[in-house]
Amino acid sequence: MTTIVQKFGGTSVGDTDKIKRVAQRIKQRMQEGHKVVTVVSAMGKSTDRLVELADEITEEPDPREMDMLLTTGEQVTISLVVMALKEIGVEAVSLTGWQAGIVTEEVHQDARIKDIQTETLEQHLDDGKAVLVAGFQGVSEEGNITTLGRGGSDTTAVALAAALDAETCSIFTDVTGVYTSDPRYVKKARQLGSISYDEMLELAHLGAGVLHPRAVEFAKNSHVKLVVCSSMEDVEGTIVEEEATMEQNLTVRGLAFEKNITKVTVERLPNHFDTMSNLFKLLADEGISVDIIIQQMTADHGVNVSFSVDSSHLSKTLELIESAKETLCYSEVRHESMLSKVSIVGSGMISNPGVAADMFKVLAEEEVAIKMVSTSEIAVSAVVPEEDMIRASEALHSHFGLDYQEQKKIELAKQA
Ligand code: ASP
Ligand code: MG
Repeated sequence: MTTIVQKFGGTSVGDTDKIKRVAQRIKQRMQEGHKVVTVVSAMGKSTDRLVELADEITEEPDPREMDMLLTTGEQVTISLVVMALKEIGVEAVSLTGWQAGIVTEEVHQDARIKDIQTETLEQHLDDGKAVLVAGFQGVSEEGNITTLGRGGSDTTAVALAAALDAETCSIFTDVTGVYTSDPRYVKKARQLGSISYDEMLELAHLGAGVLHPRAVEFAKNSHVKLVVCSSMEDVEGTIVEEEATMEQNLTVRGLAFEKNITKVTVERLPNHFDTMSNLFKLLADEGISVDIIIQQMTADHGVNVSFSVDSSHLSKTLELIESAKETLCYSEVRHESMLSKVSIVGSGMISNPGVAADMFKVLAEEEVAIKMVSTSEIAVSAVVPEEDMIRASEALHSHFGLDYQEQKKIELAKQA
């Protein structure tokens, strides 16, 4: 008997009819002879609603209490799914994070899983029960309830799949799989048959919301076969695996974008060994993560440093830099908001020079201003004005052969 893990996201358990449908799916998989562990998210947008409640009370909710609050959402879902299973004659049991043996670091709101003690889980599976595990939560060694960061139920599922040596980990969601880009914005985006862990990891980090980045990292490190598929339609999903075969003639597999980026420039810093370290330590100590960094010499031997931050961290960033003006010894700090980041990703880039040049040419033709650039082995990102983000993405999507019709054309040409 093989074990499988499946995860249903918030929209897939958004109301009681959908919960009944999830129960039917679980029953079906059990009848096929599998041991089934199911991870669920909170119903619909209920986590957002819990966050709003906290916001109505305080501007800075206590992180421990926030975890206590947010984990209730998933607890609602596991119990309802178990009730629905019992209604259709399936023995089932619900487990919160700590009951399922999910031990995390002592960190609130963004904890990492340290260990999963699978005895209880395995006992229930051996007893022939469907096991429902609350996503996104665990317990620290000190006994506090923790959460894995927003979207963290994916990570719960992958971690359980690794710990139980499951055959597959299926992530059921409201789309039919992983797309070349977000189909809500890029109209010609199409679904991929497969994608490599590395590409998926880049896309997830660069703004594709379909999978939690940490879940992909976990799947890669533990070699968990991950399938992203629809909870509504019975169609084939996307497999995330070690080596996905690149479609012919393509170097780029996907395109991601994200908004709310601000570029901050600190002008005329002294050209000392410790300038960069002093500046960025200031931000790091306050937990502000910086993305792209550019350093430039000025004509009079000083340095200008530009970097990008999430716009929500702008006021804190400026405050910190301004309060350290004396020690940092710069002349001025400027910023530019309403920016976005558009990124192309594909393992085919490794062996194809000129992808970045191509990207810049497309952006030039579209008259999109490039504010900053960063590259990795398999990705190129450009920071561009937010108002140009979708237009730039669509142009790049077409240029790199990702469009729905483009691919059809390439396939037909191959057949001819
Ligand atoms: N309910 C949590 C959230 O909305 C976790 C998840 O859905 O993955 O972030
Ligand atoms: Mg999600």
